[in-house]
Amino acid sequence: MNLLLDTEDTAFREEVRSFLTAHLTPALLRGQYLNAAIYPEPEISLAWQKMLHRRGWLVPLWPREWGGTGWTPVQRFIFETECALAGAPLVHPMGVRLLGPVLLRYGTEAQKQHYLPRILAGVDYWCQGFSEPGAGSDLASLKLRTVPDGADYILDGSKIWTTHAQHANRMFALVRTSTEGKRQDGISFLLIDMHSPGVTVRPIRTIGGDHDLNEVFFDQVRVPQANRVGEENAGWECARYLLEFERGAGIFSPRLRSQLKRVGDVMQTQQAQGSAYDGHLYRRFGNVLADLDTFEMLELKTLALLEPAQAPGPLSSVLKLRASRLRQAIAELGIEVLGAESLRWHGAGEDGAAEAAQDTLLPDFLNSRAATIFGGTQEIQLGIIAKTLLGNPAR
Ligand SMILES: Cc1cc2nc3c(=O)[nH]c(=O)nc-3n(C[C@H](O)[C@H](O)[C@H](O)COP(=O)(O)OP(=O)(O)OC[C@H]3O[C@@H](n4cnc5c(N)ncnc54)[C@H](O)[C@@H]3O)c2cc1C
Repeated sequence: MNLLLDTEDTAFREEVRSFLTAHLTPALLRGQYLNAAIYPEPEISLAWQKMLHRRGWLVPLWPREWGGTGWTPVQRFIFETECALAGAPLVHPMGVRLLGPVLLRYGTEAQKQHYLPRILAGVDYWCQGFSEPGAGSDLASLKLRTVPDGADYILDGSKIWTTHAQHANRMFALVRTSTEGKRQDGISFLLIDMHSPGVTVRPIRTIGGDHDLNEVFFDQVRVPQANRVGEENAGWECARYLLEFERGAGIFSPRLRSQLKRVGDVMQTQQAQGSAYDGHLYRRFGNVLADLDTFEMLELKTLALLEPAQAPGPLSSVLKLRASRLRQAIAELGIEVLGAESLRWHGAGEDGAAEAAQDTLLPDFLNSRAATIFGGTQEIQLGIIAKTLLGNPAR
């Protein structure tokens, strides 16, 4: 992969920059800037999604016939970098990055024709129903009881930690359709209408004070069997495929770089206001920057090896682990830079709570704690990496 941009790439970068300048409204920029939680609120992310969709830039990884861009790895990286530098909102990934690839690979023609255009247009807002109170890292122990009844299934049980379930009109879920044999062989992948009778969503507040997470309860909820993706009891394969996209198919380094830049901006402001030079903080900043540069190289190398619609396989665990630890390292540095100032934070959503860069550092720190948990904890990623290496010591 050639990191020096050729004329075509430079022209593409200019095209992306012009698009961003023309379309990023102050409301969108502010919505992303103030958002320290996992994803921005739907009114921000969906508004941006619709603009990208109209421009044909929403789903670079999908096949061209379904709206994919056919970009080279360099173009994908340029696009993500320019979006991060400009402060563009994150697109809610549940439909476009997670479910989309699963439907493209395992969905029936009817499911593709129905759901994919709705994902692209932002008609459906999806949430992910994998975790349960007794099934997180050990996902195969999930229990959500699912019994056939005519052309439907009847669901009883609950899901937990469901991000943005309060906004979603659809959930893709893993459910228990058999208790015979190996646990993984009794799981199915279902598409559920969140407005079905018997679905209840209850909020869970995060340490940052946000309402991102929920418990979702199912009381005799009827779901058509036609909403199952793949064969009955073959949902584990869909889930594994989806998790590869959740962990490693994004491009993380540009957003991490803008997160670090925000910390750097606060350091510069402090210095301009007469704070004494703190060599320890500057050395830490340098160390994090060096780690980020290394991570960016790994990310670029991975991108260069992948076909456009290919997930990175077990390497996704390395990317997920490194990106989440870097996110935390930057956020921790931010708190150290703020020092006692961080105590001034009054909580999410209060008037004037986060207008200056320094006011965003504490919410970012609090929310970053979850980065090594969601999408599979860091211990689980380490286990996958170890198994992969031990299974193939020559790698
Ligand atoms: C902010 C946030 C958003 C989330 N969003 C969603 C969502 O939208 N949908 C969804 O389905 N889930 C979601 N989750 C849930 C997430 O996937 C789980 O929290 C995660 O998989 C861990 O499961 P658990 O919480 O049950 O912890 P546990 O699995 O009980 O783990 C507890 C601790 O034990 C360690 N541990 C467990 N097993 C092992 C092992 N084999 N080896 C070494 N250590 C181990 C873990 O690393 C962890 O430190 C979200 C979580 C968070 C924090």
